[in-house]
Amino acid sequence: MIRQNLQSIHSNNVHWLVFSGDQLLVREVAEGDWQIPFGQLQSLAFVDAYQEQMVEVGEFEQQTCIMVDMGAEQIELTDNLLLVSLRNFLLQHQGSWLELVSRAWQVAQFQRTHRFCGQCGMPMQQIDWEMARQCFQCGHRCYPRYSPCIIVGIRKDDKILLAQGKAQRNRNLFSVLAGFVESGESLEQAVHREVFEEAGIKVKNLRYFASQPWPFPHSLMMGFLADYDSGEIQVDGEEILEADWYLPEQLPNIPAKISIAGQIIEQVMTEIKAWRNAQN
Ligand SMILES: [Zn+2]
Repeated sequence: MIRQNLQSIHSNNVHWLVFSGDQLLVREVAEGDWQIPFGQLQSLAFVDAYQEQMVEVGEFEQQTCIMVDMGAEQIELTDNLLLVSLRNFLLQHQGSWLELVSRAWQVAQFQRTHRFCGQCGMPMQQIDWEMARQCFQCGHRCYPRYSPCIIVGIRKDDKILLAQGKAQRNRNLFSVLAGFVESGESLEQAVHREVFEEAGIKVKNLRYFASQPWPFPHSLMMGFLADYDSGEIQVDGEEILEADWYLPEQLPNIPAKISIAGQIIEQVMTEIKAWRNAQN
């Protein structure tokens, strides 16, 4: 749960999730070994001036986590403190911090992008009884933005559909299809539309898999599994550069298992194994 009425921060040891720009503050305890700073307020002297921006975002191993957003302010980095990218930190910690860092980053993003009212243009204020910002001029209230995305693993006999989008080209990564849910659309409709738009095929036997918050920047990934139904793969060459069916023995470079994409691919591999066994 997210809280803003913070008391007893001064005397308690807490985990400090501090953002500066789009980076996260960590303490390097050994070379390449990063930890979230932990201790009393005095242990990070510079956060004292940001008490109004502190938000409690939950607990990690029974200890409170406090988010502090420094925005564009520079931090004086001493005592083995470093600023690192969120993605690199989460990859190193294999997902154990994913939920809390995601939540903290989404709250920080929300505060940064809702300084003024979208309806009348007056400054907005943080309210303290729920996580929201309010315009006291016109009454407009905003909540942290959360964007639903579908992501779907598609199986055709013993092959999986993997595609490379523009953003994945420089990491040479191939993944399952994903896309934002449009206004007025159900999750199921979004899956069928995205698959047809991005790969030109139809799918059937759609099943829910799992969901995952993904803080780049504020997505809620909703994972599905589906079977190929009909059509030939056709990509637009703009959003999706290439797509093809891959055997488990010939997979290209795929996402790590910390991401739901990696978990979906693993699940499709399990289904392919079962399908092959049923053929024999
Ligand atoms: Zn307003």
